[in-house]
Amino acid sequence: MHIVACIKQVPDTTQVKIDPETNTLVRAGVESICNPYDLVAVEAGVRVAEKYGGKVTVITMGPPQADSALRQCLSLGASEAILLSDRAFAGSDTLATSYTLAQAVNKLNATEPVSLVICGKQAIDGDTAQTGPGLATWMDYTQLTYVVEIIEVADGFITVKREVEGGTEVIRGKLPALLTVELELNPVRYATLPELVRSLRQEIKVLGAKDIGGEPERYGLKGSPTSVKQIFAPPPHGGGKVFETASDSDKVIEDFLSTFFEKESSILSEVLSSDGSDHAQEQ
Ligand SMILES: Cc1cc2nc3c(=O)[nH]c(=O)nc-3n(C[C@H](O)[C@H](O)[C@H](O)COP(=O)(O)OP(=O)(O)OC[C@H]3O[C@@H](n4cnc5c(N)ncnc54)[C@H](O)[C@@H]3O)c2cc1C
Repeated sequence: MHIVACIKQVPDTTQVKIDPETNTLVRAGVESICNPYDLVAVEAGVRVAEKYGGKVTVITMGPPQADSALRQCLSLGASEAILLSDRAFAGSDTLATSYTLAQAVNKLNATEPVSLVICGKQAIDGDTAQTGPGLATWMDYTQLTYVVEIIEVADGFITVKREVEGGTEVIRGKLPALLTVELELNPVRYATLPELVRSLRQEIKVLGAKDIGGEPERYGLKGSPTSVKQIFAPPPHGGGKVFETASDSDKVIEDFLSTFFEKESSILSEVLSSDGSDHAQEQ
């Protein structure tokens, strides 16, 4: 079985800062890591390949330095790695990103048909969780999201447990399928020394727009209908108010209640006034 894991190199978000002048991410000096959900996706693919036979190809679309994230995935047991890198891909939103990945999977399908594509649930920087579903849609693959357990792959079907609001559901889908996976799906193994050595020596295939074909106007900025209006860091929360009960507790409770209701009533009146204007517009 040929399995593809899609991975993204992301800035370590615990360190991300926004430049207040330019409203852009400050990337200088920020370490790049492989998106944690994607390491889980690679591990899941390797486990399926180990259990049922097959191999895992990891793919990323990104700049040349994303090579290091791919090598990490090779060290975890992926067999091959593809870097999609081309100036034509710059400025891609999630639609163009998923289109580009779909063209790469199509190219693999021509020689070694792909039965399973595994994506992380979301990237910890962009956070949209749109790329996996977008890719499944371009490919017309069965789409199974928020997967927490892969139960069985047999007879052209895959059975998974997925998280839904208020519980989980077990669902069976026809292959080829695309999964997006949660962190609890499986722990990620430590690389062995031989795998580490292999990951450093192995060639990474670099493909551009011409190599994967597709419609040029669907790549990069041209294929991206999304525009970012503003990016900003939310203002820090002010400290809470402390009500000391040691002295006059009745007075403290009175103060607390009046502060509480003052705040609530201002929120309530804001909501009511915005409701009123909506109704006015509707009429
Ligand atoms: C107008 C616009 C312009 C942009 N320009 C750029 C740009 O120039 N450079 C840039 O780096 N970003 C750019 N972005 C951000 C980029 O579109 C997103 O990072 C990307 O589409 C993935 O979306 P996400 O981060 O929300 O990932 P999600 O959709 O949350 O990711 C879900 C899963 O999809 C897979 N995945 C996501 N991205 C990739 C990838 N690149 N390769 C392989 N698998 C992936 C992973 O498995 C991941 O776990 C731009 C965004 C917009 C809206």
